Amino acid sequence: MSDCIFCRIASGEIPAGIVARTAEAVAFRDLNPQAPTHVLVIPVQHFAGLDDMASADGARHLAAVTALAIQVAKQEGLSEDGYRVVFNSGANGGQSVYHLHAHVLGGRKMAWPPG
Ligand code: AMP
Repeated sequence: MSDCIFCRIASGEIPAGIVARTAEAVAFRDLNPQAPTHVLVIPVQHFAGLDDMASADGARHLAAVTALAIQVAKQEGLSEDGYRVVFNSGANGGQSVYHLHAHVLGGRKMAWPPG
């Protein structure tokens, strides 16, 4: 989608701090990090959010995003101490960009419950 900022990052049209890429997913640093490490992982194909991932095709892309999130956590050195992966969904979930993304957060102790 030409008006979607994350589609434009995935295509390389808008610069971003890319940390990893596969054929189906891209990982880049969040512009407004909420932890020492804060990476977003998106599917290359446009899906608005988690509710669009229930189909077989959606589930395949969600698996690609999750696999890249795990890879990013390893390459960023987060796996040993632990980290958090978050999908914000919809207005009450705090979603502000409507292209599915996983937040990979680490480098500090996370609080629970989340705000
Ligand atoms: P959410 O609120 O879950 O939709 O998360 C959207 C995230 O995208 C926020 O953490 C923003 O800081 C981040 N963000 C928005 N635009 C960009 C961008 N151009 N590059 C990197 N991160 C971005």
